[in-house]
Amino acid sequence: MGATEIVTRFAPSPTGYLHLGHAHAALFAWHRARAAGGRFLLRIEDIDPTRCRPEFTAAILEDLAWLGLDWDGEVRVQSRHLPEYRATLDALSARGLLYPCFCTRADIAREIAASASAPHGPDGPLYPGTCRRLSRDERASRVARGEPHALRLDMAAALDGPLDFEEEGRRFACDPARFGDAVLARKDVPASYHLCVTHDDALQGVTLVTRGVDLRPATDLHRLLQSLMGWPAPRYAHHALITDQSGRRLAKRDQAATIRDLRGQGLTPGEVRARAGEGNLPRAPSLF
Ligand code: GLU
Repeated sequence: MGATEIVTRFAPSPTGYLHLGHAHAALFAWHRARAAGGRFLLRIEDIDPTRCRPEFTAAILEDLAWLGLDWDGEVRVQSRHLPEYRATLDALSARGLLYPCFCTRADIAREIAASASAPHGPDGPLYPGTCRRLSRDERASRVARGEPHALRLDMAAALDGPLDFEEEGRRFACDPARFGDAVLARKDVPASYHLCVTHDDALQGVTLVTRGVDLRPATDLHRLLQSLMGWPAPRYAHHALITDQSGRRLAKRDQAATIRDLRGQGLTPGEVRARAGEGNLPRAPSLF
């Protein structure tokens, strides 16, 4: 791979059929790679077995192919790589950067309600730190008893100097502390989005992470994980979210038109790509 090669990826979670917002994200990443003679990867982020379904994975591949988007190499399916994410969690644990959290949602809500302040981060209210204060012995015995637990990043221990990220030639300072002690493995999900996405971007040599602006805050935490693990810092390009005629963001919960619906209505791939805003995509900087 040349030093300047652009490697992008589209990384949907198979929790439903692709809609126009997904098509926009895929086209954005695909154009950035193709305009630069780079590579475009497809990754299925199906780490959460409570929300993802294999039939949606199959449908995603089919819909992308129908749209005329081709990807390079094999599709990476995260659920097939759990030991790799486990090894990353183990490496962070061995450095004392993770701790087991036995709290239920109700425990956390109670604790927050009882406290004078309830700061919020990008993923919701910040964890009040209850299990961080458990003794080493209590942690060990509760884990040994098989008590269900999540793994949280000890943010104060993990922070080590300023971090930033590069977006379209500009640098932005990161503030990962606003996530508090982020969950890196849930009780019912073996690894979090934040952990898997940074692991895979590094492993797959992604040099330009493209995704919607709604995920821009997550970049602060991702830069911290990359720094802790010694993974390279990719560049970032966060795209606007496409909206309906009334200016509202298209989301699955609003029954946004799926690619399948539009195809069923007789639209051509070119027409669906146009509706997904392909004509308005920013041109790749001439530098590339
Ligand atoms: N899997 C994430 C989603 O479907 C996208 C992850 C990313 O692009 O960083 O929202």
